[in-house]
Order: sequence, then C-alpha cells, then structure tokens
Amino acid sequence: MIFDVAIIGGGLAGLALAIDLRKRGHSILVIEKGSYPRQKVCGEYISMESYEYLNFLCPSLKDHPLPRINTFFLSTLGEKEFTTPLDLGGFGISRYVLEELLYKEALGLGVLFELKTKAQEVKKESDTERYTIQTLSKSFTARIVCNATGRKSNFEAKESTSNQTATNYVGVKYHLRIARDASQIEIHNFEGGYCGISNIEEGKSCLCYIVNANILKKAGNSIAELEKEYLYQNKNLKRIFSEAEFLLKEPVTISGIKFSIKKPIDNGVYFLGDSAGTIAPITGNGMSICLRSAFKLSGFMDAYLSNELSKRELIKTYTHFWNAEFSARIRLSRYFQKLSEYPFLTKASIYTFKVFPTLAKAIIKLTHGKPF
Ligand SMILES: Cc1cc2nc3c(=O)[nH]c(=O)nc-3n(C[C@H](O)[C@H](O)[C@H](O)COP(=O)(O)OP(=O)(O)OC[C@H]3O[C@@H](n4cnc5c(N)ncnc54)[C@H](O)[C@@H]3O)c2cc1C
Repeated sequence: MIFDVAIIGGGLAGLALAIDLRKRGHSILVIEKGSYPRQKVCGEYISMESYEYLNFLCPSLKDHPLPRINTFFLSTLGEKEFTTPLDLGGFGISRYVLEELLYKEALGLGVLFELKTKAQEVKKESDTERYTIQTLSKSFTARIVCNATGRKSNFEAKESTSNQTATNYVGVKYHLRIARDASQIEIHNFEGGYCGISNIEEGKSCLCYIVNANILKKAGNSIAELEKEYLYQNKNLKRIFSEAEFLLKEPVTISGIKFSIKKPIDNGVYFLGDSAGTIAPITGNGMSICLRSAFKLSGFMDAYLSNELSKRELIKTYTHFWNAEFSARIRLSRYFQKLSEYPFLTKASIYTFKVFPTLAKAIIKLTHGKPF
C-alpha cells in the first residue's frame, strides 16, 4: 500500500497531524517506537490557544473534567513572590491520558499504527515522487513523510551551531497529590533551574523541574541530593516535597535537553513539533507549538494532496509559516531560560514585575499564541 502521508513519531505532534489529515480523508501511517499509554517529562500545562483544536481532534476530551488555570505565581529564594492573572491561561492534562485519548481517536478514524517500531532510514525513490521508510523488519511507502520524532532522535534535521544552546538541561517529573489552588500554575526558582507545579486530571498535580546538568553533577548525579541541596533552598518547594503524596513509583527523567531551532524541511521530509525546534518550558507551550504546526501543516498538505498546491508552494508555505511563527518565540525562550537559572535575576524580575505589572503581562502574552 502507498500511504498519502507517513508520520515517524507518534507523540503529540505526530498524533495531531495524523488525526487532522485522516479527518480530511487521507491514508495515514504512524510509525512509533514506543506504545501507549506512557509517561513523559512535561509540565502538562496546555495554553488555551490549543483548546478548541484539541477538542476538534479528540471530542472525547470533553468527557474529562480538566482544571482551568488562570493565575500565575512566581517565587524564588527568600521572601520574594509575585502573582498575576493569566489573560488566556491554560488547562492541565497528563501526557499519559492525552496521548492515549488521541491514539484511540486516531485508531477509530482508521489511522494505521506500527507500534514498537523504530524508523531507521527515509529514502526518496529515484524514479517516482515517493519515499520509502525502512524499519528493522519492514519498509513502507508514502507520498509524503513527516518527522515528529521529538527533540532527540536518530532522525534530526540539520541545525546551525548558532541556533543551539551550549547548555545541557535535565528534566524531572512527578505526579502528586497536595492541597493547592487548582486554578494556579506556580513556578519556583532555585539555583540552576526552576520547578513548575499545576493541576491535571482527577485532582492530581504535575510537578516538573528543569535544571542545568552541571548542578546535577555537583549534587553527585543524585536526584534526591539535588532536591535536598538545591530545590529545598526555595521554601515553597521544601514545603511541597514534604507535604505531598507522591503517586509514581519513581520520577520520570530526561537528560540532554537543548533548546534549538532546526530546519522545518530537510531532504524532502517535513518536521513538526520538537523535532523542528525545541522551546524552553519557562516561556512554555511547546505542546501548543506541536498542535499549531500540525494544524497548519495538515492544511498545507491537504491542499498539496488535492492538487491545489504544488510541491514547491508546499515547501515555501510551510517554511515561511514555521519561521514566522516560532523562530522568535524559541529565541526569546532561550533568553528567559538562562535568566531563570539565577535566583538574583529572578528576584530582580519579581521586583520589576511588582513595579510594572503590565510588563509581566506583556511577557506572558508573548509566550501564549492566539487561539486557532
Ligand atoms: C521539562 C519540560 C517541561 C515541559 N513542560 C511543558 C508544559 O508544561 N507545557 C507545554 O506546552 N510544553 C511543555 N514542554 C514541551 C513539550 O513537552 C514538548 O514540546 C512536546 O512533548 C513535544 O512533542 P512531540 O510530539 O514533538 O515530541 P515527543 O513527545 O517527544 O514525541 C516524539 C515521539 O517520536 C517517537 N520516536 C522518536 N524516534 C523515533 C523513530 N526513529 N521511529 C519511531 N518513533 C520515534 C518517540 O517514541 C516519541 O513518542 C516541556 C518540555 C520539557 C523538557
């Protein structure tokens, strides 16, 4: 069978694109090296900009009561704290539940999945416009191939060194239960990083932090030591860690996080989500970038597959869209990521936000796109 579109990677970006294109009547294959459901390191806060689109992709989402989040709280070492309402705000849902729901929706629509299958190579057939994807045991043919393999995989688009951050970060996530205001997302700064906590489904909270890898090294590469030595310096984090009921057997962790802008198209393959560029979570909304890029790419590809757009126009339109929408957002996020590693700079920011609250609102606005 020749698929209209084959998508490598069935995370949020790949699943959204698969469902959207399938709803437009195209034959879709998703090759995913893992299976569902599964935990992923993520703050699990989704900007409201994506709410309508997610409900369009997955109508059963409405059956899950999810917390609406409309206040932002920032703290650092000492007593400095800052609270502000979020204009657009967001909602909380775990990746475990969200990806499972999207997967089931895609299956129901007739998307074909090859799970526990790692794509090894993509080749353009020399005599046709088609592409072949090679896995260890099989090969698949499609008119279009998309790469949604996330920030780190064996399939990476080229990135220029100037577009990379040299710093490596580590991410850690827990699910927990603790009495807290469900409408609030909290960011607690500590030396070398910051920790977010916000609510997800069933009254649970997601606690997720990101830290400079050098700090973990200083803590003897021990997560427990890192938390005691660094996170607990922030009194809010010390209280949360001592009062909370931890729900996962172990924290979910990832290393080698870098924030980079890559090419949205490479060797005829279309990149979306983190594989095209990774935004720092401090100015967040990587998931909305995944969803917005899936939404746009699906429209462009539908036009191409329906002969309303040439291949050249498809390439030009998607490249232009990606650069215009996301490059500046990713660059800005890297600046705030660096800033957030230093408590004295966070203290200075809190002081400034208290004097000029409209500045905080303007920065938050930059991190949330417009609803689509
Ligand atoms: C610490 C941290 C906190 C974050 N918090 C938030 C937040 O609160 N809100 C928010 O909006 N964003 C947040 N983000 C960003 C968000 O998590 C990402 O933007 C999002 O997960 C990217 O989704 P994706 O589908 O592009 O990639 P992924 O979710 O990584 O999916 C890629 C998929 O591709 C598969 N794959 C890889 N290689 C292959 C292969 N060769 N063959 C087959 N399959 C393959 C993988 O198994 C995986 O399932 C956070 C990120 C970090 C690091």
